[in-house]
Amino acid sequence: MTEPSESLVPGEELLFVPLGGAGEIGMNLSLYGTRGQWVMVDLGITFGDDTTPGIEIIMPDPRFIAAQRERLAGLVLTHAHEDHIGAVPYLWPRLRCPIYATPFTAELLRGKLFESGIEAAITEVPLSGVFDVGPFRVELVTLTHSIPERTQRNIYSSIVMAHKELAWLPHIKDSGLRPVNILPVGHSGVATPNIGGDHAGNVDRVLGSPELRRIA
Ligand SMILES: [Zn+2]
Repeated sequence: MTEPSESLVPGEELLFVPLGGAGEIGMNLSLYGTRGQWVMVDLGITFGDDTTPGIEIIMPDPRFIAAQRERLAGLVLTHAHEDHIGAVPYLWPRLRCPIYATPFTAELLRGKLFESGIEAAITEVPLSGVFDVGPFRVELVTLTHSIPERTQRNIYSSIVMAHKELAWLPHIKDSGLRPVNILPVGHSGVATPNIGGDHAGNVDRVLGSPELRRIA
C-alpha cells in the first residue's frame, strides 16, 4: 500500500474510504473525510478460518490513516461486537484519537483497554445521541441487534449526499424508522449511508452513487 499523498487529503468533497468491512464480513473500519479531516467508524477484527491456518484474528490495515492521524478527528463505535471494536486495543495506539461510544459499548471497551494496559479517554454518548466530530455531525440511531445498544450512524456534513440510497437498507426498512432520521437537517446534508458490517455486500451499490468517490 502506498503512503497517502496530498491528493488523498479530503477537500471540499466527501470521501468514503472503507479500509475494512466492505465486500467482506468483519473487521469493520470505515473512514469519512471532508475539509482536511477524517472520522473513523468502527475498528473491528475478523476471525481466521480454514483458509488462514494458524491465524486467529485478522485486523484491517490502518496505515492509510495512521500516516495522517493528525487529521483523524475521532473514532465512532456503532456497537460492541468484536467485528466493530475488537481491533481497538491493537490499533488505537497508532491513532490516539478521541473515541465515542454509547454507555454499554464504552464499558466493554474500557475492560478491553484495561486488560491491554491502554489508557484512552472514551466519550460516552447517549442512545440516539447527536454530537460533532471534526467537520461532521454524527447521529447514532438505536436499532435492535444481538447485542445492546447497536446503533446506525448517520453522518452529516455540509455536503448533500445521496440520501435516497438509504431507503433500500434492510434494517432501515425493518426497524420501522422513517426517513426523517436520515434526511438532511436544516441546510446540512446527509453525508453517509450506513454501509459495511452486516450489509457490506451493498457497498458497490452505494458507491455507484455519483456523490461518493472511492479512493481505497
Ligand atoms: Zn453486530
